[in-house]
Amino acid sequence: MHTPVYFVSLGPGDPELITLKGLKILQQANTVFYPATQSKQGEVVSRAATILRALEIPESVLCPFILPMSKDRSHAQQAYDSVYEEVVKQHDGEKRLVIVAEGDAGFYSSIHYIMDRLNDAGIPSERIAGVPAFIAAGALGGIHVVKQEEKLLVLPGIVTGEELEQYLGSGLTVVIMKLSQCGDVISAFIKGHAGYQYHYFENVGTEKEYYTDKREEIACGKFPYFSLLLIKP
Ligand code: SAH
Repeated sequence: MHTPVYFVSLGPGDPELITLKGLKILQQANTVFYPATQSKQGEVVSRAATILRALEIPESVLCPFILPMSKDRSHAQQAYDSVYEEVVKQHDGEKRLVIVAEGDAGFYSSIHYIMDRLNDAGIPSERIAGVPAFIAAGALGGIHVVKQEEKLLVLPGIVTGEELEQYLGSGLTVVIMKLSQCGDVISAFIKGHAGYQYHYFENVGTEKEYYTDKREEIACGKFPYFSLLLIKP
């Protein structure tokens, strides 16, 4: 038997937005590694765990890896390195080892680092596609993300006002992920550019999901980690 290591996409938050293929792999898993964070008070929080429990994946196979909140990427790297080492230890070609990620596991997902290392070590892996948050956001807002000849640009939260002016000025629809990294830029941009359409989303697919297209509200907002903005010219 040559069972690969599976990377399963969980979707943005609504447990029903996982694929059937992803769910079947989770149901047969021996170990499911999932990301979690630890608050300053020591409380472990994990959107992935909430989804996995809603899907009734048995507690006995769940194995968290704690990602530090700090901006220093080397800390996160260490967490991924330990998952990699644990996977290598457990991998025997028969056990079903699964690593999960929110949204689509191949879209701005740091677990690519683990997949790259497995690849380098010659351990086969397979990734199961999933629904990325911005696609689920479009459905929540009743927005056609792009239509006909429109072009889409997705940005990972690193952007300046001048760049946004340039992109939107040339007719692109823009999606900005990781908004918490560029709150001030976005706030100033919205105040100075009343002519565009802004669609803001928070915690899509969860009990706390929120959508607004009110410019004033978005402009003064503080953005949590799970938030994104769609701007149309
Ligand atoms: N793999 C994920 C993206 C991970 S990057 C995907 O396919 O969507 C993390 C960023 O994704 C967050 O900062 C936020 O911008 C966005 N995001 C992920 N889940 C979200 C959700 N449920 N609601 C709103 N934004 C979300």
